Formats: sequence, C-alpha cells, structure tokens
Amino acid sequence: MQLTPLHQTQENMKTSQLVFLLLPTLCFFVSWGATSPFDVDDSEDFISCLQSKTNNLTSISQLIFTPLNSSFESIWEARVNNLRFIKPSTPRPSVIVTPIDETQIQTALLCTKKHGYQIRIRSGGHDFEGVSSSDVVPFVMLDLVNMKSIDVDVGNKTAWVQAGALLGELYYSISQKTNTLYFPAGVCPTVGVGGYIGGGGHGNLVRKYGTAADNVLDVQFMDVSGNILDRKSMGEDLFWVLRDGGSSSFGIVLAWKLRLVPVPEIVSSP
Ligand SMILES: Cc1cc2nc3c(=O)[nH]c(=O)nc-3n(C[C@H](O)[C@H](O)[C@H](O)COP(=O)(O)OP(=O)(O)OC[C@H]3O[C@@H](n4cnc5c(N)ncnc54)[C@H](O)[C@@H]3O)c2cc1C
Repeated sequence: MQLTPLHQTQENMKTSQLVFLLLPTLCFFVSWGATSPFDVDDSEDFISCLQSKTNNLTSISQLIFTPLNSSFESIWEARVNNLRFIKPSTPRPSVIVTPIDETQIQTALLCTKKHGYQIRIRSGGHDFEGVSSSDVVPFVMLDLVNMKSIDVDVGNKTAWVQAGALLGELYYSISQKTNTLYFPAGVCPTVGVGGYIGGGGHGNLVRKYGTAADNVLDVQFMDVSGNILDRKSMGEDLFWVLRDGGSSSFGIVLAWKLRLVPVPEIVSSP
C-alpha cells in the first residue's frame, strides 16, 4: 500500500473544500445562463413601455412572450436552425415580440432603445452562428414570424414580400399565380427572405440572373430611429448595402420588392 504524504492530503482537502465552496456559485451561473439574462422586473418595464404605446392592449399582450409564458421556449426554438444552440446554457431573450405590423415593430424598437437592451431580428432563423436568436448581453428578440404576406403582380413581373416569409412560401405564392415566373433564390425552402437577401443570396439561377440581391427593386426599411424608408428616400448607397451588407447592421427590413424572372413552364433534366 502506498501512503500519501501529509502535505498532499492537505492539498487535496483544500481543493475539495474549494470545489465545495464554489459549487453553489457555479450552479447559480449555469442556471442563470439557462434562462434569460434579464431580470424579470426589467422585462416588466419593457412590457409596460410596449403597452403604454398601444391602443390595443389585448392584441399587443398576445404578441409578447417572456420566460414566464409556457409557450416561450417553443417559440424561441421554432426557428433556431442550428441545433447546437438549443441547449440550456444558450442565453435566451428576455422578451420575444412577434409583431403583426410596422407600428408594433416601431414600438418594440423604441422601447428596446429606451430600456437599453440589444435587439435581435429573426426572419427564418437560419443564421448558423445563432446571431438572430441569442446574445451575450440582455436582448429582445423581434421575431417576424407574423410578417410574411406576399403580393405577386404577374403583369408587372414583381412581388412584394414581407421579411418574415420563407423562400418556400415565396415560391409557392408565385406558383399559385403563374408557371412562367420565378424568383432566382436558394434551394432551401425554410430560409427566411429577410436574412437571405440581406446576405446577397445565391441560388440555382445565379449564372443566368445574378444573385437575389441583384433582383431587388425596392425595399421597406425601418432605421434605428423608427423612420420607414424606401429606396428613393434612403438613397442608393443605403439601398446598395442593405442587399448583401447584412441589413441588421443598419435597421430592420420590413419588405422587399422583387423582380420576377421568366422561366420555361416545363423544365426537364437528364
Ligand atoms: C439549411 C441552409 C440552407 C441555406 N441555403 C442557402 C442558399 O442556397 N443560398 C444562400 O445564399 N444562402 C443559403 N443559406 C444561408 C442563408 O441565406 C443565411 O444564413 C441567411 O442569413 C438566413 O436568413 P434567415 O432569415 O433564415 O435567418 P435569420 O437567422 O433570421 O437572420 C440571419 C441574419 O439576418 C438578420 N435579419 C433577419 N431578418 C432581418 C430583417 N428583417 N432585417 C434586418 N436584418 C435581418 C438577422 O438578425 C441575422 O443577423 C442557407 C442556410 C441554411 C442554414
């Protein structure tokens, strides 16, 4: 049998005492990270701010989710595409807001600024770094899941699409109106129009028609002060950078106006 020297035993005891003392602290930080970086009181102030700026209290209340709501976790997870982020240690938003119109987005933006929070904008949730779903500082998530209307104008070969729509929903809406027009975008139907075009957007028809960004004709965009701008009022420089430069660095894209391109009615491949 090998005897352990006394000084080593004392060292081991010191280590185990230290671990014992640190354990509650570690547990506190792990559970803190598992929920939300916000204090409930802070988020209540934020929610009061939202409610104070709306005429329809019932409507806005149904569009706000905090960790105290039973549906909070499922709404947050629904569009987190990289499953690596669905773990207890990933910081959640304090509040998820799912606006149904521009006024509610404006209100959420102004209250977020007033209470000093970061904002994360989520369209399709396909950001593989989790940028749209998580942050290391307290944040509000603006989930555009309810802003996905699509208006296809076959005569003018254009479509207005709200940022929360998914590529598959856009393709489906076009196909409901015509078999000879298409928007040249990517193959994955669950990618969001908001983030996809903000990053340029390449797809199968890129050699013939360019990127998705090349086929954007106009935009409805909210700047950090809550002003709604279009291509004319924002000027060509901002319009250029919104389509590839990561639009969330500049504000919130509400909708894109797209050029639809001609395609054969029947396509065959070997
Ligand atoms: C499975 C898969 C397939 C893909 N296929 C392709 C492909 O074929 N071609 C291609 O080019 N790319 C492809 N991508 C990359 C994809 O286009 C980008 O990840 C894109 O940013 C996803 O957009 P989203 O709206 O789904 O993601 P989100 O996670 O919602 O957003 C991505 C980024 O854009 C910001 N953002 C989202 N909406 C807005 C808005 N309304 N206003 C301002 N900022 C906003 C977010 O804050 C975030 O920074 C693919 C990704 C995945 C995961």
